[in-house]
Order: sequence, then C-alpha cells, then structure tokens
Amino acid sequence: MKYQFFLLSVLLVVLAELVASIPATADVFSDTEALLPPAQKWSGKSESLVVPANDPWITPAERTGLTATPGYDETMVWLHKLVAAAPELKMVSIGRSLQGRDFWMVIASADQIFTAEALNATGKPLLLAHSGIHAGEIDGKDAGLMLLRDMTVAGKRKELLANTNFLFIPILNVDGHERRSPYNRINQRGPEEMGWRTNARNQNLNRDFTKLDTEGVRALIQVFRQWKPDLYLDLHVTDGADYQYDITFGGNGRSGWSPAIGNWIEDVYRPAVSSALSENGHEPGGLVFATNGMDMKDGFLTWSGDPRFSNGYGDATHLPTILVENHSLKPYMRRVLGTYILLAETLELMAREEVSLRQATLSDRRQRPKSIPMGFKRNENQVPENVLFKGISSERYQGEVSGAEVVRWTGKPINESIPKVYISEPTEMVEIPAAYIIPAVWSDIVERIALHGIEVEQLSKPLSTRAEVYRLPGAGIAEKSGWTPNPFEGHIRIDPGEPVKQVIETTFPAGSYRISTDQPLGELLVLMLEPLAPDSFLQWGFFLEIFTRTEYAEAYVMEPLAQKMLESDAKLKQRFEQKLASDKEFAASQHQRLKWFYEQTPFYDEQYLLYPVARIPQPD
Ligand SMILES: [Zn+2]
Repeated sequence: MKYQFFLLSVLLVVLAELVASIPATADVFSDTEALLPPAQKWSGKSESLVVPANDPWITPAERTGLTATPGYDETMVWLHKLVAAAPELKMVSIGRSLQGRDFWMVIASADQIFTAEALNATGKPLLLAHSGIHAGEIDGKDAGLMLLRDMTVAGKRKELLANTNFLFIPILNVDGHERRSPYNRINQRGPEEMGWRTNARNQNLNRDFTKLDTEGVRALIQVFRQWKPDLYLDLHVTDGADYQYDITFGGNGRSGWSPAIGNWIEDVYRPAVSSALSENGHEPGGLVFATNGMDMKDGFLTWSGDPRFSNGYGDATHLPTILVENHSLKPYMRRVLGTYILLAETLELMAREEVSLRQATLSDRRQRPKSIPMGFKRNENQVPENVLFKGISSERYQGEVSGAEVVRWTGKPINESIPKVYISEPTEMVEIPAAYIIPAVWSDIVERIALHGIEVEQLSKPLSTRAEVYRLPGAGIAEKSGWTPNPFEGHIRIDPGEPVKQVIETTFPAGSYRISTDQPLGELLVLMLEPLAPDSFLQWGFFLEIFTRTEYAEAYVMEPLAQKMLESDAKLKQRFEQKLASDKEFAASQHQRLKWFYEQTPFYDEQYLLYPVARIPQPD
C-alpha cells in the first residue's frame, strides 16, 4: 500500500508539473483574429479571378480559398510544372541563399526568348517584380502564380505578354520564408502561416541595397545589371495605422534623385493603376506613414527612402521603382487579389506608356547635377496641405498594463481631411567631384562598389594631382565623432560629425582606384562615399580602423619637448595659456596637456581620423 501511495504521489507531482508547463493563456495566442481590429466586409470584382476547385491549374493558395500560402518546395514544384506546360515561361536560378536554396526567377516572354541580351533586343518594355524581400509579407507570390497561369496556360490574359516581358521572383528572402509560423507577424491578418522578416543571419534585405552583405540583394542587383528592367516592383505588407486603403504604393517622391521618374510615377503610373484597382473593387492609396500612430488627424508623411531601401536605391540609380505596401489588416484574399490587379495593370500600362517611361528614365540617367542631396527631411517652414484621407474611426483608452493611452481602431470608415507633410527638403547638398580615389588597401570597398555596375579604374601609374580629403572631427573634438552603442544590421554605425574638408597636393600611387562620377550610377557612388550620406560605407562602419590611435608619446619625452616648444614659440605659449585658463578639465589633466603638444609635433599620426577616400574636384 505504502509503495502504491508513493507511486501515486509521484504521478500527481509529475501531472502537476505538466499542467504548470502549459501556459494557462495558450488560447489567447491561437485566436489571432481576436487580437486585431475589426475587419471590414469586402467583396469585389477581382474575386472572380479565383479559379474553381476543380481547375487543373489551381494554385496552392487558391486551394485554401486564399487563406494560406504554400512553402518554398510546394511553390517551386507548382511553378516548375507550370513552366513545363507553358512555352512562354522559363525558370532560372539567380543565386543561392546561405542555407542553400535557389533564388528562382520566372522569365515570361511571348516570343519565348529567355536570355537577357535577346530579351532586351526585342525592345519590349520589361517589368521586374519580386515578393518576399520580407518573407512574412508574401501576398505578391500568390498573386504572381495566378497571373503567370492566366497569361499562359489558362489563356485569360495572354495579351499582357504581347507587348511586354515579365521577370518574376516569387520569393527573394527564401530562408526567411521557411521559418514559418502563425506567429511571425502579430499585426497582420493572414495567411495562416508566414515566413520571417529577415534572412537566416537576421539581416534585413531591404536595408542592404548599397552595402550588399546579403546573397539575396546581391543576386537582385545582378538581375538589374544583366536584364535591365524598365520598371521594378517591390511587394510588401504594411504595419501601423488602420485605414480603408487595401493597397498603397509609390515611388521615392517627385523631388528625389530621379525627378523625371518621380513625376512619371505620380502623373502616369498612379492614376492608371489606381483606377484599375478601383474598378476591381479595391481601395488604392499613396504610401502612408502616420505622423502619430494614435491619431490619423495629425496627418501623415511622404517618404523619400535612403538608398539602403529598394525604392531609395531605384531613385538613386534612376531605375523606376515602385514600393507596394498592402494593408496588413485586410484579409489575405483581398490583398492577394489587389496585388494581381496591380501587376496586370502595370504590364498593360508599360505597353501603353513605354515611350514616356523610357524618356523619363533617360532624362534622369543623363542628368549630371553639380551637387546632390545626401538625404531628405521635413521642410519646417512649409505649411502642410490638407488632403482627403479614407480613414477608420478610432478612440483612445487608458491602458492599465502599459499605464498610458492606447489607440483602439473601431472599424467604421471615416473620410476626413488631414495634413500631408512632405519629406523632400535636402538634409545637406554635397558638390559632386569629378572622381574619387580609393587606396588599394581598401579594395573590399571597391569590390562592393563594382558589384553595382559602377565602372572602376585602377591606376597603372602614379597620379599627381590636387585633391580634397576629409578629416573627421577628432583630437580636440573627438567627442563629436562616435558610434551608436548598438549594432545595426551587423554593423557599428558611425556618426561622422562635421567632417572638415582639406585641399592637398598629392601623388596617388599606382594601384589606387579611380572611380569617375561621370557615369549613369555616379550619384549612387557619391551616396556611398560621402561621409555625410547615411548609406555611405563610412557611416555603415566599413572604415572602423581609422578611429583607432596607435602611437602614443611617453610623458618623460613630451614634458621636456613641450618645454622646448614653449620656449621657441611665443604664440604657442600664448595659446597654451589661454587654453589653461579657459578649460578646467584640460588644465587638470596631465594627459590632455601633453597630448595637446604631441598633436602639434611631426610625431603625431596624421592619418588618424583621416577619411582615406579622396575627391578629385571638378575642373574649374
Ligand atoms: Zn516589408
């Protein structure tokens, strides 16, 4: 009996522990619908795009009523089958991920031309679209599969390929796509499971367009160079505020680095694509960045992204680029169908507006401005214009947990007039030099620059010339030149402070790299090499070595030397005395006092805090 009692107690203890290990609130997490603001009822003409269950070419997502999305393998098996049946399609691998998955790209050409050169020679405009640069935002993949079917084997939209060619990358962040879970996007309404935002090394591909750390973006840049698309679509899903728009899109603004393309997107692309979406029951809008996430009445901002982002990169390289952001709170089906309409209308529009699109691009590619903005900010003097905004009603309540006010979106459509604030004022303008010189020892930077398709020349003999160099705030003002305490995207970001430009006469040795700005990607080059540009290699921490002092003077040498310097230089003595009188910390520090003299000797390291990339000024 005793023994049985013991067993029973053990069993009870084990049971109790099992129960304790199951979170009491498990079902709080599983009902994701209950977490989100109310969904609006929706039906639209685009619903007729979904094929019946017995259609032999039903896509994996359609089989679930557009509530779930297939994994990588299922997607690629379906696509390979489609490609085998459709002579207009071919699939190529454009690279491979860190975990060994291919980045597949579908080439769609009615002429059955599948090489870059021959496709370009057809003269037809070429659209490139990809989905899943953030793999949890995967609507574009399932829309693209339906569209590829309809323009080929199903025969419903064959006309789309009559005058355009189409490149489609269904999943760019393939490794992130396979980190699947229902819990990857807490603010998003479906699909049932989705991939993860970043890649297998936690890098965000949509911050990588200039530095090129990731396989995915490197492969994409190679596609830009090789296939030369006329228009590029990057398909995402939002986070943030609730509103009526189900699909928002835009370029990088009218006043960015590609003004003609910026105007084309607003004046030609937006009206055509918006009206196609409206006709099919969708609610298109411009990209929305709320000024205050609690209240849309405070208005919203336009956004000109830096070149680390797809749309900023497109702007800086004069590649017409549209960022598409489906609204995360709309159900998956509505978002996929909206993306389908946007893709189809884009192809139609490109056939109609081929000439205007290419003219805008050429005009921006040919511009050789004297100076360019390093980035864009809000113009504080500008009175924001009021625009009609299709919002959703909201209220605020006091959050007991957070101890602060929280917004609650209540689901009722409201149309209101709210301020639209333009982020279009240059942060700083920097004069474009004729060329940059990079010492041979920094060839890793040059390799990344060349990956973009920027032409680089290596000096075969020494070059004696006048040049400009930047000295970063250092020595006495070193405090201004620092780094953010946390790593970002695997880098230590550098705040360059206010670099001081110096003109020197110098000789660059043979082997140095000379990179001219007089090329179509000249502005991108400037944005990667100027210290003040947020996406410069300097700010991304690629030049960390220059921030380290490596030689020091001992006090037993500096004290008598400083004494001699004071005796031989009356002005120096005067400056020293002024410094002692005005700077208490300095006066109290033997180290600082002696360092002050050391910096004024030829023993001091003149390369400390000297940015090694030189500018060759434009001829006068
Ligand atoms: Zn995204």
